[in-house]
Amino acid sequence: MKRTKWGIVLAATVALLAGCGAQNVQTNNDGEKQLKIMTSFYPMYEFTKKIAGNQADVELLIPSSTEPHDWEPTPKDIKKVHDADLFIYNSEYMETFVPTIEAAAESEGTVFVEASKGITLMEGSEEEEEHHDHDHSHEMDPHVWLSPALAMKEVKTITASLMESDPTHEDEYKKNSETYLKELSALDGEYKEKLALVPKKEMITQHAAFGYLAHDYGLEQIAIAGLSPEQEPTAAKLAELKTFAMEHDINVIYFEEVALPKVAETLAKEIGAKTTVLNTLELVSEEDQKNGHDYISIMKNNLDAIVQAQSA
Ligand SMILES: [Zn+2]
Repeated sequence: MKRTKWGIVLAATVALLAGCGAQNVQTNNDGEKQLKIMTSFYPMYEFTKKIAGNQADVELLIPSSTEPHDWEPTPKDIKKVHDADLFIYNSEYMETFVPTIEAAAESEGTVFVEASKGITLMEGSEEEEEHHDHDHSHEMDPHVWLSPALAMKEVKTITASLMESDPTHEDEYKKNSETYLKELSALDGEYKEKLALVPKKEMITQHAAFGYLAHDYGLEQIAIAGLSPEQEPTAAKLAELKTFAMEHDINVIYFEEVALPKVAETLAKEIGAKTTVLNTLELVSEEDQKNGHDYISIMKNNLDAIVQAQSA
């Protein structure tokens, strides 16, 4: 019975293949071999998609409406990771669930790629650690993608992983990556040039996401909250920030659309400063993506906001 059944299927397949041109068959084969890549949150998704082009199937794991810090996967999410050839994430200090799912997923054949690998992470300040009661997941600062110079390093790491996992398409990955790196390099140049000229070097931010950006481009970040946006400052810390802001003639407090800016607003009111939005790229809505917002356009908006605020 079985043999007969397979015979029919085979005959049908051969007939089907014969009906298609050679080109179609190739495309079909190619489609079957496509790398399946799961990425954690927005910048990882965009970097990977730019490198993959049309050659791999790239998906976003953490919904674009959800804050990725301390996000926890459901069993369904874990299955998605198991079903992928590659799982690309930023750092276990950001995607804190990685250590708990990595071993099981790797035994299912999923290769885990830490995009920040090779980048020396900065420590969070003591203040932040004091407030960190649930675990030590944020003791190192994971926000490397917010420095264009470090974003380039992450793109190179992701590129190497795609080339290694799918050598058939390595030339294409390499070419796509080089094109994207040129754009990132131009962005890095613009950051260097413009931020070297701003008169004020200290920036007060709501959440401590801009430490690498500040470090790489000659600024200093003073954060109201910790590395995770939900961490709240103490009254003493607020008073200290107020004094600091007055001493350094700070007229702008940065906050993100995602985090509740209540503390930032309170501080701004107290010192008579304005508030301005910096986007951490931790959440980029589908609507924003459809409207053409991407890493480079958002980072350019951030740069404009910083230049304006640091000159105010
Ligand atoms: Zn963050």
